[in-house]
Amino acid sequence: MHQFRYIGNQLFCEGVVVSTLTKKFGTPLYVYSQRTLEDHFQKLDHALAPLDHLICFAMKANSNLSVMRTLANLGSGFDVVSAGELQRVIAAGGDPKKCVFAGVAKSEAEIEFALRKGIYSFNCESEPEIIRINKVAARLKKTAPIAVRINPNVEAKTHAKITTGTYENKFGIQFEQVEGVYAHARKLKHIWLRGIQMHIGSQLTDVKPYELAVKKVLPLVQKLKARYRLEFFSPGGGLGIIYNPALASGSPEWWKSVSAKNILTPASYAAKLLPLLQPLGLKILLEPGRFIVGNAGSLITRVEYVKRTGKKNFVIVDAAMNDLIRPAFYDSYHEIVPLKKKSGTPIASDVVGGICESGDYFCKDRPLAKVGEGDELALLSAGAYGFVMASNYNTRPLAAEVLVNGRKFAVARERQPVQEIWAGEKIVAWLK
Ligand SMILES: *Cc1c(COP(=O)(O)O)cnc(C)c1O
Repeated sequence: MHQFRYIGNQLFCEGVVVSTLTKKFGTPLYVYSQRTLEDHFQKLDHALAPLDHLICFAMKANSNLSVMRTLANLGSGFDVVSAGELQRVIAAGGDPKKCVFAGVAKSEAEIEFALRKGIYSFNCESEPEIIRINKVAARLKKTAPIAVRINPNVEAKTHAKITTGTYENKFGIQFEQVEGVYAHARKLKHIWLRGIQMHIGSQLTDVKPYELAVKKVLPLVQKLKARYRLEFFSPGGGLGIIYNPALASGSPEWWKSVSAKNILTPASYAAKLLPLLQPLGLKILLEPGRFIVGNAGSLITRVEYVKRTGKKNFVIVDAAMNDLIRPAFYDSYHEIVPLKKKSGTPIASDVVGGICESGDYFCKDRPLAKVGEGDELALLSAGAYGFVMASNYNTRPLAAEVLVNGRKFAVARERQPVQEIWAGEKIVAWLK
């Protein structure tokens, strides 16, 4: 569980009253709990302990250097999807030799950079990509380690925008084509068939689709391992988290009932998958993003106005969809709580940002304690796909980010100065 909780009437992050952070750094503000990051990484790491394994944090979920350094210090590798992300790994003090490179559109320059830095594996999503990697490796007189990303054609039962493991998606190589692709790739002199990978989607809260997908690909993995002496298998990332507290009272009873019902936790994941993975005798990689960082971060915002129109109670806040796009993009739920606990009966409220889009909302008709101008709210579970998807829409500067560790806190990213937003722009000569 995470470290954002009330002590008395005040919301704390670990040992820090969150309102002291907003007093110091303003709003909108992303706050991350180091302890939660470490807990989540270690829970998963321990669950996999019986296996030779490596967790490669999918840094597209949160690529703040301090977040990454926290995980690198625990031995984490990284799943990168661009050369820029690999440069960030290096800037954060991570090890490129513990990184895998995913994504359907790797450019020649990106492949070259990753090869020079000694990437652990390219997770390949098409045959033309493998041919390109071979060509670049030949030019550099190197051998490129690769894995094919299998699309197991399993329905992950998650949101359409984050399901990736069916043939409707652009991701991976069709199950039926994988053997042929390995046979061709073996003939390429600068390719080293190092492993095999799959990823079926994101925010999976049920362990069943994983189990089905792994069971489906196992015979193929065994065959390819024997044929090409593969070193690793990765069942991917996508482990879900609890966003809605109505499901998660946090009581031990609740946790007992979840594992019974296959709800995905490190324990249930290990219980179902270890017996399948252990006999393989392969190194196991995992590429979780959200699971590690999702509940470790909150977005703190201040109420600008409360506006009542007809039946609606609009709580207009200083954060907006440019800071956190998940509700607008994926219809996602974020728990919203005041920094100072309120009494009184909740009223159905829409919490909205100030951007000129009707999609710019954080919740609709949700019973929330009555708040007024100047009150501050926390949008919980905003650590994954939060800040990384932020934009400057409406010329709004990127929010600041703070890392908390016990009673310590420090800025992990300065609030963006507004002039920086147009720093690269020019008024072209003929207009002057
Ligand atoms: C996005 C992604 C992940 C991480 O997904 P989460 O749901 O954050 O765990 C892992 N692997 C690949 C290939 C991805 O695209």
